[in-house]
Amino acid sequence: MAVIIDGNKARDEILDQLAEEIKRRKLTPCLATFLVGDDPASVTYVANKIKACDRVRIRSRHVHLPANTSEKELLSQVAKLNKDKSVNGILVQFPLPKQISQQKVMEAISPEKDVDGTHPISLGRLLSGNESMPACTPAGVITLLEKATAIKGKHAVVVGRSNTVGKPLAVMLLNRDATVTVCHSKTKDLAAITRQADILCVAVGRPKMITKDMVKKGAVVIDIGINRVDGKLIGDVDFEGVKEVAAAITPVPGGVGPMTIASLMQNTVRAAVLQKGSR
Ligand code: NDP
Repeated sequence: MAVIIDGNKARDEILDQLAEEIKRRKLTPCLATFLVGDDPASVTYVANKIKACDRVRIRSRHVHLPANTSEKELLSQVAKLNKDKSVNGILVQFPLPKQISQQKVMEAISPEKDVDGTHPISLGRLLSGNESMPACTPAGVITLLEKATAIKGKHAVVVGRSNTVGKPLAVMLLNRDATVTVCHSKTKDLAAITRQADILCVAVGRPKMITKDMVKKGAVVIDIGINRVDGKLIGDVDFEGVKEVAAAITPVPGGVGPMTIASLMQNTVRAAVLQKGSR
């Protein structure tokens, strides 16, 4: 029976360490969050991020805009906060309403304040081995993995290749000397590949798509998926079946989700330290 990897516990440890670091270094970090519209999941995500800020004493500034906000208006508000020296990090909650290009918004955030780690410059740095501002969800996955297993030399299979999760995660695993295979919707015989994984990370958005027969005995399984089914949160991995064969597995909820927030807090403190140093 698999060890259950506890993301809430890992998050709490990181937040405690950050609170201490902020005190010790006499930092006054500030995270600005943008929410456009009232998508209930996004409202909850942003509220949890602000709650984490309060807990570690990161100041937060929240900008809530109506769903019909134009791209020009959002870009102009982001530009204003880029120039504001009292703000260290900027996070725009995705998804955005259809009239706004997520890519344009991502690219509009100053790389120094890109605490989500999804600006092309942050991703390019990641690719060259510089993880000064890693994408939050992949960074959270790596923190959990490093607690659960050695990564070096392992065969890691990442299912999903989005720019915000799958691709940066694959690069971070490669940076840690894993042998990495990336799978996606056009992959042939997915199960034949996932069965080879020592480390299996799944970020697709299809409830319970990874079943017990697709997992090697003793694998470490990280479920990044969040699916709402009949009012409940369900991962991409069939937790009950897979935990019988895996050595360790993350639950949903309570696995990667809390770690994404912990990584955001880490990046915000890192941004504050870097900006303090360059002033
Ligand atoms: P995207 O929709 O951007 O990407 C999904 C990926 O899955 C794509 O690369 C797609 O392939 C691939 N895919 C789709 N169907 C299959 C299939 N049948 N077999 C193999 N691969 C497939 O999603 P995200 O990366 O943004 O998010 C993935 C999941 O992670 C979602 O459930 C999301 O809610 C969750 N998530 C959780 C976070 C957390 O904090 N825990 C944070 C961010 C996301 P292709 O490229 O070919 O289309």
